[in-house]
Amino acid sequence: MKSIDYSLVLSKRKTIAIIVKPDQTVEVRAPKRVSKKEVESFLQLKQSWVLTKLREFSLRPEVHEPKYQEGEIHYFLGEAHRIVDAIDAPLNVDTGLASIPLRSIKGVESDQIEKKFDRWYRKEALALFTERHDYWREQMAHLSLPGSHVTIRKMKRRWGSCTTKGKITFNTTLAKYPLTCIDAVVVHELCHLLEFSHNQRFYQFMSHVYPDWKACDKQLQTLSWQY
Ligand SMILES: [Zn+2]
Repeated sequence: MKSIDYSLVLSKRKTIAIIVKPDQTVEVRAPKRVSKKEVESFLQLKQSWVLTKLREFSLRPEVHEPKYQEGEIHYFLGEAHRIVDAIDAPLNVDTGLASIPLRSIKGVESDQIEKKFDRWYRKEALALFTERHDYWREQMAHLSLPGSHVTIRKMKRRWGSCTTKGKITFNTTLAKYPLTCIDAVVVHELCHLLEFSHNQRFYQFMSHVYPDWKACDKQLQTLSWQY
């Protein structure tokens, strides 16, 4: 039988768990009293599941790292958009792809195009998040939300945040994703106006306003590999 490489983490937990990570490593978490033999036989029992997971991760598409040049594809609202020179924009109507029209990008260095792209993206993203924020505030009018306003910035680890003073910040990158995913994050931050912690009360509001939030969170995670 083929043996599986794994790292072992012992802790106070009560059961053994196997975690297969996207980078195709395997971690076994086990209670402190468990012997190595027990871990190995548990791993053997679950071998086919582990191998399936490993295969799944090995088949994942490469992370999309778009360049900043004419014709390159970038995502907005879950749809592929092509960077085009603003002059050519009317000609691109028939290609079937939405476009991101930027002024004077022919023969220009990619870091210059990136700056123009970022300006376009920030403007569109802010308009989008503000519109969804206003829309969902209306849907939640019966909950008498305290006041809030929207800002955006690029963030590494979060899709959004909300302060006790009602300043809601969205990750600019979130604008790449389908509207259903964006709405789940917007509602999440608005629910923080009612309940600051991620406790049961918070998730009751979430499920009341946006029953599909779990599926959307999951989709957001899956898609983050492709965009
Ligand atoms: Zn939160």
